[in-house]
Amino acid sequence: MTLLLSINADGEGRISGATPERAVPPRPVPANDGHGDVRKKIVPIVRPPAGPSATAWEGGSYLTLAEWLDAPKPGSAILLQPADDVRQLADRLDGLALIAVDFPRIGDGRGYTHAFFLRERLGYKGPLRALGAVTADQVNALARVGFDSISLRADQLADPAEAALHTFTVPYQGGVFRGRDTANLKARIRLLELDLAEVARRHESPALASSLSAEDMVITDAIARLGLPIDIFTLDTGRLHAETLALIEVTAARYGIEITRYQPEADAVAKYVTTYGENGFYDGVAQRKECCAIRKVKPLANALAGRDAWLTGQRREQGVTRSALGERENDEERGIAKYNPLAVWSWADVLAYAAHFDVPMNALYARGYVSIGCEPCTKAVRPGEDPRAGRWWWENQESRECGLHTNVKTN
Ligand code: SF4
Repeated sequence: MTLLLSINADGEGRISGATPERAVPPRPVPANDGHGDVRKKIVPIVRPPAGPSATAWEGGSYLTLAEWLDAPKPGSAILLQPADDVRQLADRLDGLALIAVDFPRIGDGRGYTHAFFLRERLGYKGPLRALGAVTADQVNALARVGFDSISLRADQLADPAEAALHTFTVPYQGGVFRGRDTANLKARIRLLELDLAEVARRHESPALASSLSAEDMVITDAIARLGLPIDIFTLDTGRLHAETLALIEVTAARYGIEITRYQPEADAVAKYVTTYGENGFYDGVAQRKECCAIRKVKPLANALAGRDAWLTGQRREQGVTRSALGERENDEERGIAKYNPLAVWSWADVLAYAAHFDVPMNALYARGYVSIGCEPCTKAVRPGEDPRAGRWWWENQESRECGLHTNVKTN
């Protein structure tokens, strides 16, 4: 029997079993073993196993999804693989004793999506187990999306996994969270995780457009915690604060992710500077929008080319131009979906989330900045002032958008 961590509705864990189902693999020895901390930077290449991570559970052999659909035998357990289409289980769940989800390799987040879909869309209430390349670090996130038992890898220790449960804030309770506008922080976290998992499930190549704002850092943290296949990019306009540029590096290192930078075309920037001067955007709305078009809008178009969905950290309370912001929109210009999962979040919600998960933040916030963009077009605001008052403050409120968020229709 494998080492199993079972989780009850209160988030308490119970360890059972002790015999590893497969031999502990020898620890990979880095080429420069013995050279101090440098060793830690070497990540051994872990190849996915050729077959499923397990063949049997405590009640017998696992069935594949196809075998179950072909000949369902009551009391069976199935083992889902990342590429399986879980929608096929609609109205085919009766009689299943267990659904296990295989995570064949670290970093493949499709198992989270399976769990979300089974719990939230198909209403599956039975036992749901994660197995394969799962670690103690993932226990919390796995439980959040509905897994109630986790088969630990043969080389994992039970104690750290059980300890990870002590940080639970939201044990799985299907269907509890309703009323997005009035949800508390715990519910907001849960809803955000569900929304992101749904985006990952629905789309082939979704991406978060991150300005490294607090909101985008919240979404980045959730994507990374859940291991979701959602890319993250930023528009490196060439006029960002040093603090923002530093945060790109800090974020990539903290979460072990890549943040792709999209930059403006050098020729277009040079032509603008020759025509209007380096800071010509102060001279009128048209000049400012032209600068934004070159440094932001065109790079965004490049970043979204070939994608079928994108996400932003926009919130309704950020200003009059965003007061009717939808959580799900159609980007009509590109014909793709656009998601604003924090649309109804307050600034207090964002700060509470950041504190809860110790999310790295732009150092400018501590200096009175609330909405952060390019260095020459952003300033700190006074307490209580409109959050967008620090952006293009020389213009009317109605014009204070950069053109990144036009041509959308709320669903
Ligand atoms: S925010 Fe200012 S510097 Fe940045 S692209 Fe727009 S006008 Fe140019």
